[in-house]
Amino acid sequence: MPAPLARPITALRGVGPKHVEFFAKLGIATVQDLLLLQPRRHEDRRTGWSIGQLKLKVPATVLGRIVAQGTNFYSKKTKSTFEFILDDGTGRLHCRWWNLPWLADKFRVGDEVFVHGKLLSLKPRMMDHPETEIVESDGEASTHLHRIVPVYPLTEGLSQRWLRGLMWRTLEEYGAQILERHGELLARGRGGAGLGSGLRARVTATEAASSPAPNLDPNPALSLSCSAAIRSLHFPAELPDAELARQRLALDEFLDLQLAVRARREKLLANARSQPCKGDNHLIRPFLAQLGFPLTDSQTTVLREIRADLARGTPMRRLLQGDVGAGKTVVAACTALMALESGHSVALMAPTEILAEQHFRNFTRWLKPLGVRVELRTGSRKTAPNSQLSTLNSQLFIGTHALIEDTFTVERLGLVIIDEQHKFGVAQRERLLRKGHYPHLLVMTATPIPRTLGLTVYGDLDVSVIAHLPPGRGAIKTFVRGPEKLPKVWTFVRERLAEGRQAYIVYPRVEDTDLKTGTKAVMAEFEKLAKELAPHRVALLHGRLSAEEKESVMADFRANRVQALLATSVIEVGVDVANATVMVIENAEQFGLAQLHQLRGRIGRGAHDSWCVLVAAKLTDDARARLKVLEETTDGFAIAEADLRLRGPGELLGQAQSGAQQFRFADLTRDLELAKLARELVTRA
Ligand code: ADP
Ligand code: MG
Repeated sequence: MPAPLARPITALRGVGPKHVEFFAKLGIATVQDLLLLQPRRHEDRRTGWSIGQLKLKVPATVLGRIVAQGTNFYSKKTKSTFEFILDDGTGRLHCRWWNLPWLADKFRVGDEVFVHGKLLSLKPRMMDHPETEIVESDGEASTHLHRIVPVYPLTEGLSQRWLRGLMWRTLEEYGAQILERHGELLARGRGGAGLGSGLRARVTATEAASSPAPNLDPNPALSLSCSAAIRSLHFPAELPDAELARQRLALDEFLDLQLAVRARREKLLANARSQPCKGDNHLIRPFLAQLGFPLTDSQTTVLREIRADLARGTPMRRLLQGDVGAGKTVVAACTALMALESGHSVALMAPTEILAEQHFRNFTRWLKPLGVRVELRTGSRKTAPNSQLSTLNSQLFIGTHALIEDTFTVERLGLVIIDEQHKFGVAQRERLLRKGHYPHLLVMTATPIPRTLGLTVYGDLDVSVIAHLPPGRGAIKTFVRGPEKLPKVWTFVRERLAEGRQAYIVYPRVEDTDLKTGTKAVMAEFEKLAKELAPHRVALLHGRLSAEEKESVMADFRANRVQALLATSVIEVGVDVANATVMVIENAEQFGLAQLHQLRGRIGRGAHDSWCVLVAAKLTDDARARLKVLEETTDGFAIAEADLRLRGPGELLGQAQSGAQQFRFADLTRDLELAKLARELVTRA
């Protein structure tokens, strides 16, 4: 930041100590902060109107000359009106102000004046308290009228007109001080030849299959200088110029982020010497032989990418994306085996005890016969170190956050796998990595990540995508229903249970139904549903149960001793029971789309057809529009994009922290092209 722009706001003429506090509320302390204040919107006050054309109640700006003016006083001079008449050759306009008699000194007959306001009567044409600006004889351009003007977010103590004038003067005075942050990168982008090709080369084959080709037109934002952009951010010549300016400033922000990502990566490459971990197949071969199904092409492609990473001396930093049910666990198992074969230990961390237990059960079943020691570490359970003789000196640890704690130590940690990574913060991930010396990292997510987030928030990671589900899955049909249909829904559930299938019934809360919002609680609904679904057995699952209770409920459900599971969203991640084909979600309107998609992912895991019923307590137009997305598609990527558009990035980001949250101009919901461009410019530099 050049020194003059770093000056405190009080360095500006007309800004005194009393303003400091008001500006602080807008996050403004320096001249630069002020210049980067984004207008809420713009107002087109150009005169396209003549007085003769003015219409009732339509805001318009006209230019004319004052032909008469005067003040009337009422009731012993405590009330007054000041009025002037403006003429532009096509008609006359009366402009009137109440109780501002001093205006008589401001306007003179013969003055040329811009007036902006709405007509409140036609005969005579009259405006009350319009905005005005006298045309200066020195020909200086108008700030407030006869142009497109900015409208700022305000706080108490700052008026729109005052702030606009201040902005204008500050731009005049400091505009030349605004320097390019990324001039060289942008110049290279303007050179433009083959723009887009570099990006395409970096995208892995699986990723290319799921994303459209990059746009090859040089972005028009590139041809704008930073100072021109800041100027038209406030005072654009045409309305679209303000959006173009925003894009130019957003591009700078994306470039900042990409440069930071690159610096982190370079530091990692410079310091890290990881152990090659690609294995020799002596465990993977028998593992795949006893698995019972062949890997899909998507899974094989991803494993090839991972193996190439593990063979390198620099640590893998890879994000594995795959829709719910795509088969990420098997990929994780193969990855773990590569490291185990190479004599390294592996830590697999999952966000919930239910999921950690499930992974523990699966991995034990799969890997114990191969002589791999598998241990579980959760807050409430720690399996005894396996005394079984093993030919390996490496071992697999599976657990929850307990793995991060100091009491957990591991030798020769070669690989860290994190399941459902958005449930963990970056700091937690780093703590686990520090238990080894630059171990490889595989993070997995079942919430598909829209490309903008992949390029920004997850910019540190290479991406692999399992693009296709394993074959032989039954279809999932989804319906949105109002609460009046519940009796029919329960009849339907009873019929499916009678056929031998199982069901999940999900509520947003554990206890205490909220009568005001109609939000139901799973404990309050239990007895009613137990009766409703009898003679089938019903059980409760929620976060307040102890780990043993949870595990015993899940065991009953897996063994079909319980046919319907009433649960909160604790079952959102990972739970895998193929015979469960029905999911009813009450108060569906209270969940995000990505979360509903996750929940729905618990069904459709076997060969039977599945049904998901979303019951909305209040089926507003808004709720209906959102839930309709789920009725129409089971494609997690499409759903995540819709969620990003409708609710912003908050939920998709979860615990993931990053510079992206500090964006002022960049908008993750619509700036995919800019994010791609920034990535490419930095990659090619
Ligand atoms: P997710 O990607 O949601 O973690 P899982 O790994 O739990 O999915 O896999 C979902 C189900 O699909 C599991 O029961 C798993 O055994 C099965 N599965 C995984 N890969 C294949 C495959 N190649 N063919 C058939 N079934 C598979
Ligand atoms: Mg999973």
